[in-house]
Amino acid sequence: MVRRGLAAGITGRRVLAVQVLHPRPVRRHLPGPEHFAAELTGRTFAEPCRRGKYLWLPFDDGDALLAHLGMSGQFRLDEATAPLLPNTRVLVDFADGDAQLRFVDQRMFGGLSLSPGGARLPAEIAHIARDPFDPEFDAHEVVARLRRKRTGIKRALLDQQLVSGIGNIYADEALWLARTHYARATATIPTRKALEVVTAATAVMRTALGQGGTSFDSLYVNVNGASGYFDRSLAVYGQEGRPCPRCGSPVRREAFMNRSAFRCPRCQRTPHGDAYAG
Ligand SMILES: [Zn+2]
Repeated sequence: MVRRGLAAGITGRRVLAVQVLHPRPVRRHLPGPEHFAAELTGRTFAEPCRRGKYLWLPFDDGDALLAHLGMSGQFRLDEATAPLLPNTRVLVDFADGDAQLRFVDQRMFGGLSLSPGGARLPAEIAHIARDPFDPEFDAHEVVARLRRKRTGIKRALLDQQLVSGIGNIYADEALWLARTHYARATATIPTRKALEVVTAATAVMRTALGQGGTSFDSLYVNVNGASGYFDRSLAVYGQEGRPCPRCGSPVRREAFMNRSAFRCPRCQRTPHGDAYAG
């Protein structure tokens, strides 16, 4: 369930009871699962917010329930009588007796924690930058900060403190679209070119949404790597040896930050001077 659906489903509702069905997702709450459940009980939710892989569900008292969705976490709203999905970990019942909030997480890399004073922005995630679909995302500001860094463009795109949500695949595809080598130094890249790269990344992510998922949240939650329909529209990522869709040169795979970077050797030429090759 995406943030918007969640907002419509829980905002203004008071928690009657919480059941923790598996302790792992609440492991960050050190006093334990029972204490976690008691802490939430009686509070009223305000409108949920999202940043990167985190959702936070503010309470009207200034605290928040912080959720890291990890690889597989998701919220659902179901009638209390509806059967539980496998891997349901936490249940929240409301005083109004309507639909139950359920946290489902198969792999449990993420989890839930209480963030004291975190209603506006939990301190735990204050360092994470906005993603391109955040209403307050400002591409010009991101580009200005990017150009102050002494690093390579791809490394900057993957830096969650600069911009969140751009993974390895989206970075490679965006750099190809903007005809930019991954090692290009951010300090010397022209503003216009940097904007082109960030805009391209947003476009690639939007395409992925249109083809593989229904929302940006599901991009995070369900699409782990290149999968499904999106796979077929990749220009360079995972396409080693295949022709570049623009010029026909064979796509190259190169080592980058313990992973790979895929590029067209002709459209994305090796930069002269400063370069940051992973
Ligand atoms: Zn090419």
